[in-house]
Amino acid sequence: MSAHASSAAATWRVGGTEIACLVDGGGRFGADVFPSADDETRAARLAAAGLEAIDTVYNAYLLRHDDGGIDLVDTGCGTAFGDAGGALAGQLAAFGIAPAQVNRLIMTHLHGDHAGGGTRDGAAVFPEAELVLHAAELPRWQGVDAPGGRLLAAMAGRIRTVADGEDLGRDLRSWHLPGHTPGHMGLRFGEDLVLVADILHSEAMQLPDPACASRYDDDAATATRTRLAALEEIVTRGLLWSGSHMLGPGKFARLTRDAGGYRRIAP
Ligand SMILES: [Zn+2]
Repeated sequence: MSAHASSAAATWRVGGTEIACLVDGGGRFGADVFPSADDETRAARLAAAGLEAIDTVYNAYLLRHDDGGIDLVDTGCGTAFGDAGGALAGQLAAFGIAPAQVNRLIMTHLHGDHAGGGTRDGAAVFPEAELVLHAAELPRWQGVDAPGGRLLAAMAGRIRTVADGEDLGRDLRSWHLPGHTPGHMGLRFGEDLVLVADILHSEAMQLPDPACASRYDDDAATATRTRLAALEEIVTRGLLWSGSHMLGPGKFARLTRDAGGYRRIAP
């Protein structure tokens, strides 16, 4: 495994796959997103992280497999949040990837900042891709007038639902991480690297206190149990990880314990 720069995107090679983290856009979460943290706590955690506000970015991942297959994990928000996103298309182009070359669109879940870039004016942006998502995510969004519902409608007939731990080929497996949404899932690459999607919305707020839930979690209690278990596995097994809202140029990290919580460390 090695990290190297390519098209200005953070990349990591694991097994026969090169993973590139593509940043579709970003924004700021309001103070109300973490209701358990009072003003003083929030200010202290942001100061410790060198932030002035609860900044976020919308990460997606391009998977280029040595056998020529191309997967995309999430799509960013596209035009769903106005001009907050939409950079994904240009980043794919910088890798020489046209939308029709994407074989599989693997969705961690169908919130707008992940699914918004999958449709444009109701049409599928990735016309040849199979849509892969956890089975529990389908009923959450089917028929819903939101980016996730529109993505399901646009890609009807080429949707594959998966369970936890399902073999997606190329040493890639699904990792059900329920709570944020019912079918929220991460991905495991061999035994080395995991994508954890939205178990964290703000490392600054949640790594020091993993019980700090986001109001975007459908089921905060389940999401908190999931977050605690996932972070504990990452630190115990020394896994590399990346998250959908991970800030900074370095998009692949490890984790260490720190004062009752956790801290991101360099890979
Ligand atoms: Zn989400």
